Amino acid sequence: MDGHPALYSPTGYGIHDGEAVVRTPHAVKTLQGDHVEPVIELLAAMDGETAASDLIERVPAATAADVDLLYEHGLAYNADAIPTGLDDACTGLLEPALTAIPPENHHAVPDRLGSKSVAIYGHRDSVLPVVDRLRTAGVSVTTDSTDEPDVVLLSERLERSEAWAEANEQWAASESTLVKTRLTATGWRLGPVLTPTAPACLNCVYSRVDANKAGGQLFTEAVAGDPPYARAYADTVTELLFRTLLGQVPRYLDEQFVVYDHDDQTTKTPRVFALPHCEVCNV
Ligand SMILES: [Zn+2]
Repeated sequence: MDGHPALYSPTGYGIHDGEAVVRTPHAVKTLQGDHVEPVIELLAAMDGETAASDLIERVPAATAADVDLLYEHGLAYNADAIPTGLDDACTGLLEPALTAIPPENHHAVPDRLGSKSVAIYGHRDSVLPVVDRLRTAGVSVTTDSTDEPDVVLLSERLERSEAWAEANEQWAASESTLVKTRLTATGWRLGPVLTPTAPACLNCVYSRVDANKAGGQLFTEAVAGDPPYARAYADTVTELLFRTLLGQVPRYLDEQFVVYDHDDQTTKTPRVFALPHCEVCNV
């Protein structure tokens, strides 16, 4: 049991059919058994300032195990994990990265973010809100390729924009992780995320597209203005970068990327395959 203030992420909670149903911005969780009543009372008592150990005194039915249960399910976290100055919306984007980090290490998160750097390649306008939030969280953001950044962010406006080869080579020559994202005319593309040990690179991806004309044409339309999903895109990219910087790249980006269509509300996940004898990554 830590003595730190406990925050929680639920947007709604209640008891239904004897189960605690807790809704967060990211998921709906169901808890059963003896913990149901105390967990709901704890959620009602959490104010982001009271230490978890004091909360238990306030909720007579609750024990340390109930608080641990909330941490384990990603429904609560140590409020010290949130860098000073982050607003509520941005805090919500950092939360998914915290669920995989033990609560006793949450207090180190602001310092960890403060020691990280991101270099941006490509089209910057669509990721300006992302840059602002990263900087507020203490992350250094540059457009300078001279230092080795923790993350190379390639923000594309057109598929295979001019900056891709430079970003790819910077990644291949470093221990950086490359994150490619793109706002499209109907939604966005997220990934691939290439860690330093990734088995493929962007040259592999694009060479395979060229070799497979039928299955993989490039999208060449650029987005004009501010589409209605631009804000959700910036949120998604911010969350992905927080997770990547904290070593928690989401599994749904393992050797694949996500193509999201806002109009149809569909998601596809094409695989990323290595190119045999790739001149960039297989040397
Ligand atoms: Zn390659």
